[in-house]
Amino acid sequence: MPRNDVMEKMPKISSASLLDFESGLCKIGIKYAGTPGEEEARDYIFNKLKDFGVNDVRLEDFEYLNYMPTSAELEVLSPQKGSIACEPLQYSASDSVEAELVYGGDSKEELEALLEKGTDLDGKIVVARTPFPFWTYPIAEKNGAAGFIVVTDPPEDLIRVGVAVADRREGTLPGVTISMKDGERLLNSMKNAKTEVRLGSQGTFHKKTSWNIVGDVPGNELPQERLVVCSHYDSQIKGQHAWDNVSGDAGLLEIARGLVEAGPKRTIEFIFFGVEEQGAFWGSTSYVRSHQEEVKNCRALINLDGFSSSLCEQNFLETTPQAKDFALSIAKELAWPVHYTGYPMPLSDHIPFIEAGVPTIWIHEGLIDPYYHTEGDTIDHIDFEKLARITRVASLCTSRLASLDKFPF
Ligand SMILES: [Zn+2]
Repeated sequence: MPRNDVMEKMPKISSASLLDFESGLCKIGIKYAGTPGEEEARDYIFNKLKDFGVNDVRLEDFEYLNYMPTSAELEVLSPQKGSIACEPLQYSASDSVEAELVYGGDSKEELEALLEKGTDLDGKIVVARTPFPFWTYPIAEKNGAAGFIVVTDPPEDLIRVGVAVADRREGTLPGVTISMKDGERLLNSMKNAKTEVRLGSQGTFHKKTSWNIVGDVPGNELPQERLVVCSHYDSQIKGQHAWDNVSGDAGLLEIARGLVEAGPKRTIEFIFFGVEEQGAFWGSTSYVRSHQEEVKNCRALINLDGFSSSLCEQNFLETTPQAKDFALSIAKELAWPVHYTGYPMPLSDHIPFIEAGVPTIWIHEGLIDPYYHTEGDTIDHIDFEKLARITRVASLCTSRLASLDKFPF
């Protein structure tokens, strides 16, 4: 049997290693770009890749616009005075406004439909239900709103955080994010009476440097052809963020450990991207811009972001059309049930690669873990059985694509 066939038969995945990586990275806590945890996670991953013997392990730095939240306030002025717990909507303007509330729906489509029907946002503060505010906040900006309130729906009255914009700029309206219970209370008040609030949001914007962590296993026969397997190692600002995306990092470390001696035909590149969470996919965009030649020779991208939650029942295998049959055949071979397939949503680091024409496979669960972007995203709801199975799927996708004589797409 040729060597390549042997090596890709069954990926070497160790549950003990996965547990070690997951708990090592969770222990660091917050890995939000611009905090000490970001650098600690960077060093942890860098040193692991070195220890495994991955080739040419390096940090590639890039600049990004960092947002650091400072404070937020939300005071109901009428019909009944009271204050509401809130957090700054990241990348929204640092400002304070007083205005009447207007309902902005629970999706981009619904907000657009409300505008179509004549809802006037001018000078008002928009209240919208969404886990992805960067899809609706820009519409409020364009339509003259004065501010933005995001109602999120995690359990236990937690407040989910996120960014207002995803296009490398400072937002122009102040915004805050609040819990579901407080959101329902505000929405009920708005149904019965004109509701006015004072909303304040403060944060700082600074140009900062972050890093992508890159290493590879060189191909024996077609070294110029590459497969990229990636995950982002930064987190949101609330805590461990075990699901988003320590799970991806633990999986990718284990894939690197298992494939380092594989002797593939094509080059396998491992990339841990920085600054995925602060909008705009800063690390992956920088990589695609500064490696145009390599990206042209990239036969496929496999992105690991958000999986192994005991609270998610749906396995998502999102691919560009070329890669779909291949990815599904690997899932079937390893008896990994796929509940949803579709084109990769614009929610992670695969986007700059897709824009550069790279066939893409995004393995995740969804649509989101209930504790997504909250302090409740902790290691105790990581299912290590799932983590091992999904890592095996990603590893076999990688090794097979790296070793097949005839590339399948
Ligand atoms: Zn993520």
